[in-house]
Amino acid sequence: MTEAKRPPAHVAMSQFPVADNGELLVGGQRLSVLAERVGQTPFYAYDRGLLKARVAELRAALPQGIELHYAMKANPMPAVVGLMAGLVDGIDVASAGELQVALNAGADPHEISFAGPGKRDIELGQAVAAGVLVNVESARELKVLAAASQRLGLPARVALRVNPDFELKGSGMRMSGGPKQFGIDAETVPDVLAQVGQLAGDGVAFEGFHLFAGSQNLKAEAICEAQQKSFELALRLAEAAPSPVKFLNLGGGFGIPYFPGEARLDLPPIGDNLAALQARARAELPQAKLVIELGRYFVGEAGVYVTRIVDRKVSRGQVFLVADGGLHHHLSASGNFGQVLRKNYPATIQPQGRTETAVEAASVVGPLCTPLDLLADRMDMPRGEVGDLAVIFQSGAYGRSASPEGFLGHPACVEVLV
Ligand SMILES: *Cc1c(COP(=O)(O)O)cnc(C)c1O
Repeated sequence: MTEAKRPPAHVAMSQFPVADNGELLVGGQRLSVLAERVGQTPFYAYDRGLLKARVAELRAALPQGIELHYAMKANPMPAVVGLMAGLVDGIDVASAGELQVALNAGADPHEISFAGPGKRDIELGQAVAAGVLVNVESARELKVLAAASQRLGLPARVALRVNPDFELKGSGMRMSGGPKQFGIDAETVPDVLAQVGQLAGDGVAFEGFHLFAGSQNLKAEAICEAQQKSFELALRLAEAAPSPVKFLNLGGGFGIPYFPGEARLDLPPIGDNLAALQARARAELPQAKLVIELGRYFVGEAGVYVTRIVDRKVSRGQVFLVADGGLHHHLSASGNFGQVLRKNYPATIQPQGRTETAVEAASVVGPLCTPLDLLADRMDMPRGEVGDLAVIFQSGAYGRSASPEGFLGHPACVEVLV
């Protein structure tokens, strides 16, 4: 028998309250009741109250006037985007498909920005027609935008996405520094700004800069350092801009704890740092609004993935709880979405129709014919039986839409916002 992984500290990490009988409460509803209401497993459930509380908590920690954008690629469920659109100051989209969802959800087009490499001509035309800000990633995009502006008789609102010469230290995913497909290398930005100036007569309207240095960072000092460097770089680049900077997106990268020993991000130093940058912006870029864009931080902790145990097997002493869901719905919990080392997401078993006092080390696996389909590897959890529910926490971001749902042809999961 293999030794069990460290447990319950995991589950204690979850933001979800528990009823007297030990049942998890999602959107205030007992999980067994919610599962019946949903009518099928597997499903994702996102908690409205937790989403609202997270935005409120962040606003309270940051200086007034710092604008919050939701990067909807973290969770593009239309109902979530609709809720977030009413809570934050803007929505960041990364495709014309996401743009459509944001517009349908009622987001104000003026407060939508569109980033991403390889924007197709048709997508750039859609952005101009919708009146959203395009974070331009190449000189080619500028020409296409100018043509769209001419055709439509509408301004093409642009910010330049800059590939800085630094990175966000200690990030889960690095998105800047060195050669990257994202943004325009900082050293060539002055040339591109000259082109923006030349295209002003063709309807290209310069608004500012977008810098995004990385993701999933739990170190406040690293985030502050990246924000400060981003601000200073933007100040230097602004000298070559054809008109005053009105929009300065300093990126995000705020992480959430997934694994034992990971501490929650310390917000007060980030608030202080942004207050200092805001004071400098008032003096040096007086027309600029400062924006930060976050995906995972807003939604990640507000979601659970719920799957039902269909089989219980013991293989050479190791317990396998085989569930009806797996990596085809939740690639990141399986450890195959960019992780270098696989670690367990916080997870638990919710026994159905009985009280369970026994705890045992078990692995929760999915129905796919691949050993990668592993949701929990030898974790101590309440003893699971066929019919019980397995719950994976921290599942509100990069879940369903980031998973290969068609792989092996199992049924789709559903999503609910409660
Ligand atoms: C992915 C992405 C985000 C969101 O990242 P999170 O880690 O979910 O906060 C924000 N901005 C850009 C440009 C992105 O590509």
